[in-house]
Amino acid sequence: MSADATDPATEEASGGPAVRRLADWDADRLRDLAADHGTPLYVTDLDRVAQNCVRLRDAFPDAEIRYAVKAHTGRAVLETVRESGIDAECASAGEVRRALDAGFAGERLHYTAVNPPARDLDLVVEWWTAHPELTITVGARDTLDRLAERGFDGRVCVRVNPGIGAGHHEKVRTGAAAKFGVPYDRAADVVADARDDFEVVGVHAHAGSGIHGEDDLAAHRELVARMGDLAREVGDLEYVDVGGGFGVPYHEDDPPLDLDAVAAATREALGDVDAALAVEPGRYVVADAGVLLTAVNTVKPTPDTTVAGVDAGMTDLLRPAMYDAYHAIRNLDADTDGGRGRGPVTVAGPICETGDTFCDGRELSVPERGDLLAVGNAGAYGYEMASTYNSRPRPAEVTLDGDVLRERETLDGVTRLERGGGSE
Ligand SMILES: *Cc1c(COP(=O)(O)O)cnc(C)c1O
Repeated sequence: MSADATDPATEEASGGPAVRRLADWDADRLRDLAADHGTPLYVTDLDRVAQNCVRLRDAFPDAEIRYAVKAHTGRAVLETVRESGIDAECASAGEVRRALDAGFAGERLHYTAVNPPARDLDLVVEWWTAHPELTITVGARDTLDRLAERGFDGRVCVRVNPGIGAGHHEKVRTGAAAKFGVPYDRAADVVADARDDFEVVGVHAHAGSGIHGEDDLAAHRELVARMGDLAREVGDLEYVDVGGGFGVPYHEDDPPLDLDAVAAATREALGDVDAALAVEPGRYVVADAGVLLTAVNTVKPTPDTTVAGVDAGMTDLLRPAMYDAYHAIRNLDADTDGGRGRGPVTVAGPICETGDTFCDGRELSVPERGDLLAVGNAGAYGYEMASTYNSRPRPAEVTLDGDVLRERETLDGVTRLERGGGSE
């Protein structure tokens, strides 16, 4: 807590500080939680989730805000988001199920069907009969046909591949992004045709790339402007959904995202449209509300760096291995025992993969065996991307108050699905 922190109640009502840094977490509290629940351990601060929701609502007072559930699907997180008045955007039938379980009403549920497996469509259409106000966002004519075959004639939103401009977006346009949405030039036709069979309530685009700096903001503005053009062309929509991707400062030196500037740029770029603005932040809601705690089990000096072997790995937090993502790391024991020197440290997990490191040669306090490390901004796409590779059980997750959100997986849990197979 900074010395000039205001009264906690006021802070919560006002959405709290623009960012919570790893340094702001209470080391004693985190150490107690690790002692009680073991490591690796995710710790989630539900109050911070609520604050992030408040800040989003303050920045986008007249927009529909949908939390991209895939960033963190924990029940208590979903309930906190729901109570904060934010809706749910779901990427699979499983996420729709979680959102229903967490009490989201149908009209607050949006299912984004990306190459949806038949089983997902079957389930969502089945649930739709009980929750006819839910909306399905569709990125291909083919998906519309498959919905019609299942008797669905409800609320549909057409996902568009915005294919913004040239230059540094060219790669995105010809590459992976072709997967998402109908090509911009065909979007109006798809909307017109879809209106024969469905209630088309919106158009949607998600750039995906995470808005951090000025360049990103310019790209975001362009995407929003194009969506505004499309909305004016097709007319008669409830909303224009411009996706998520609001960035968070992963690096200690990154400034916080200026949410008000993003909101102002979004409104300006959208222009005069007779439809509500909708946004779908995922990361922004949960990233700085979570840390991953991990214990040092091996210390190995090498010529270039001290390797600190820890009990969490890429199976617990995949982002560094998968995206080369930077996550702040803090030695919670060095906070109290300053005797440790500083130097280049490589924090490495127990998985047999070179990529299984959280940092490589980073200037940190040199750990001792038994030290507890905290990995920052682990609330988004952290637990969600956990796996059991190397037959490692998935970690436990608790709230800052010590309530268990997800139990630590057991070895029996890891092998639960195994069958003998083979010949008779
Ligand atoms: C993942 C996703 C989001 C959220 O992205 P963030 O970067 O976490 O904000 C929003 N909309 C859709 C369709 C997504 O797939």
